[in-house]
Amino acid sequence: MQKACTPCGTDFEITQSDKAFYDQISVPSPRCCPDCRLMRRLNERNTLTLYKRKCDLTGVEVISPYHKEHQFPVYSPDAWWSDDWDPMYYGRDFDSSRPFFEQFAELLNVVPHQGQFVIGGTMQNSNYVNCAGYLKNCYLIAEADYNEDCYYGNRLFHNTTLVDCSNCYEDELCYECIDCLQCHSLKFSEYCQTCSDSLFLKNCIGCKNCIGCINQRQKQFMIFNKQLTKNEYNKRLDEMNLNTNEGIEKARKKADEFFLTQPQKPLQNEHNQNCTGNHLYDSKNSFMCFDCKDLEDCKYCARVFSVKTSMDYTAWGDKSELMYQCAC
Ligand SMILES: [Zn+2]
Repeated sequence: MQKACTPCGTDFEITQSDKAFYDQISVPSPRCCPDCRLMRRLNERNTLTLYKRKCDLTGVEVISPYHKEHQFPVYSPDAWWSDDWDPMYYGRDFDSSRPFFEQFAELLNVVPHQGQFVIGGTMQNSNYVNCAGYLKNCYLIAEADYNEDCYYGNRLFHNTTLVDCSNCYEDELCYECIDCLQCHSLKFSEYCQTCSDSLFLKNCIGCKNCIGCINQRQKQFMIFNKQLTKNEYNKRLDEMNLNTNEGIEKARKKADEFFLTQPQKPLQNEHNQNCTGNHLYDSKNSFMCFDCKDLEDCKYCARVFSVKTSMDYTAWGDKSELMYQCAC
C-alpha cells in the first residue's frame, strides 16, 4: 500500500509484512515516511552535546545532555537510580476531557530526568560518559556497553583498552580504529576483523604484522599490499619510524594515496542473510538497517545490536524485541 507522508508529502510504501508487524503489536500504520520517523527519533536524542550542571536532588556537579534551562528537574545518575525520591509522587489522574499529549507534556516537565543515560549499578569509575552501561574506567565515550579502559569514542561494545575509536566490537589495545571487530593491537585502521599488530589497514581480515594494506585476508609481513619476508618487514618497519609523529604522518599519507588506487567495497556488510543497509553485520531478514549487528526480522533500525522483530528503532538494543518507534 502506498501512502503520502503527512509532514513532507513523500510517497512511501507499507508492505504486507509491515502491516503484519503493526497488527502484531497493535498499532495503526504510520502517517509519516521512514525519513520523517527517523528525524522524530533523532530529535529525542542528544548523545554527545553535554553540559555542566548541578543535580537537582543532591547539588553535585554532573555532565548532562540536558542544559540547566530545561524546565524539568535533572538528577545525577546515582541520585536518579536511588531510593531517595519517589517517582509515584508525580502520579496524577488522566483527564479524558483533555488531549493525552498535552497532559503527558505536563507530566514530563515535572518528573525528574536522569542526568546521563546510564544503567545504574553497572558503572565503575566512569562518570563522564553518556548512553552507556557496564563500563569500568572509561572516559568520554558514548553509546557504549561492556567496556573497560576505553577513552574518547562512541559506539564501543565489549572492548578493552581502546582510545579514539568508533564502531568497534570486541577489540583490545586499539587506537584510532573505526568499524573494527575482534582486533588486537591495531592502529589507524578501518573495516577490519581479527587483525593484530598492524597499522593503517583497510578492509582486511585475519592479517598480522601488516602496514598500509587494503583488501587482504590472512596475510603476514605485508607492507602496502607487497609480501615481504619477516626480515625484510622488520627492516622496513625500523626505517618507517612509526614511533614518531613524523613517521606516522608519512605512513598515513602514503596509505591514503595507495588506498585511492585500490578497489573499495561498495557497502560494509558482513555475514548477513537477506538484508539491505550498510555497516550491517551478522543479521538476517533485516532491511534498511544501518550501523547494526545481530538483527533478525528488523526494518528501519540504526545503531542497535541484538534486536529481533522490530521497526524504527534507533540506538541501543541489547536483547530487545518487538520495539517500534523507539530511541534510547
Ligand atoms: Zn516524510
